[in-house]
Amino acid sequence: MLTPATGARGAALDAIRPEAARAPESGIVEVFNYGRDRQGLTPLWVGEGDLPTPDFIRDAAKSSLDAGETFYTHQRGIPDLRAAIADYMRGVYGTPFADGGAFVPERFFATIGGMHALQLAMRLTCGAGDEAIVPTPAWPNFQGALIAGGASPVEVPMRLVPRGDHMSWTLDVERIADAVTERTRVLVINSPSNPTGWTATREELAAVLELARARGLWIVADEIYGRFVYASERAPSFHDLIEEDDRVLFVQTMSKNWAMTGWRVGWLEAPPELGATIENLIQYSTSGVAVFMQRAAAVALRQGEGFIAEQRARAAASREALLTGLAATGRIEAARPDGAFYLFFSVAGHPDTRALALRLVDEAGVGLAPGSAFGAGGAPFLRLCYARDPREIAAVTERLARWLARS
Ligand code: PLP
Repeated sequence: MLTPATGARGAALDAIRPEAARAPESGIVEVFNYGRDRQGLTPLWVGEGDLPTPDFIRDAAKSSLDAGETFYTHQRGIPDLRAAIADYMRGVYGTPFADGGAFVPERFFATIGGMHALQLAMRLTCGAGDEAIVPTPAWPNFQGALIAGGASPVEVPMRLVPRGDHMSWTLDVERIADAVTERTRVLVINSPSNPTGWTATREELAAVLELARARGLWIVADEIYGRFVYASERAPSFHDLIEEDDRVLFVQTMSKNWAMTGWRVGWLEAPPELGATIENLIQYSTSGVAVFMQRAAAVALRQGEGFIAEQRARAAASREALLTGLAATGRIEAARPDGAFYLFFSVAGHPDTRALALRLVDEAGVGLAPGSAFGAGGAPFLRLCYARDPREIAAVTERLARWLARS
């Protein structure tokens, strides 16, 4: 028998698990829906660039499909990809631990994007009744994934402070320590940060690690933007500090470095002794990543350095154009983003950034994300993704500057 749609909907919603019902809606959806089909709008609200995945990566996926690699595969990832990740990590970070060791393939687990790696990390470390500390402003999926798993995110706002001739976000480790309770299991550290561009110093990471060791906490380290830094080759990493028995899980993704956001491939890095457990979690969630996508990822990791360099150069030029152009307006306050590819800025005279984001769609042809989407301390800001052609970012900057001059 068919149940009337409305009755069924109400009944179903009442009957689902509260943690599923509580999973929050993304805070940028409203602005996105408002402006998504606008002619001539430059969409800078999501965290991805304008370049498609390079041909050499796509070709690897096609070859795999043509070779008939269409069957179930290793839950942890194909050996070739895990070896490619280990080689890549060795090239970028040298060793996994401060006192050496080797990046062995057994540390790596192929996932459906960084999001799935995060989901696995949360499953491994915290659940119903547990707390996880998230310094904010933060990528909202941290809080969302925690809530959906029954845990509680505890937001600890970072501070925006003057440093030399510019503003800078800083992590207040004492404040984080104060937020630790009996129920705390995890510290989520995302550096370089989406949305602020904050890039932890080695000292900040060391202080977090010390706290985690002292209180027996896990660190979930999201270092996906570690290659997008502007003053050095890579961002400081927990790999520079940890020892083999430290409790750190690393979230990684193919999405940004290799322009593969739509592919949904990433990896979790974890102590090899967790291998069987992680394999089980993968088995019972996604049952693995399609082989042709893993082949493409392996090729990207092995041959992608030129492409990463190109993307970094574009982002650096875009960042420069943006910072110079907006600073000249005298209306913007922002920390200089040391890493990632976002500018998180406030506009003097426009404290309501939800309303401002909607106006900018209509009046400046620019799609930005309101800062309230990024948790405590985010509301006065807008997030702009500048991983695009520097000429386009220069044109957007001009449009924003003109709009500011008349508003
Ligand atoms: N971590 C951070 C900080 C991100 O900004 C993103 C995507 O925007 C991800 C993880 C996950 O990326 P994906 O699931 O696309 O691989």
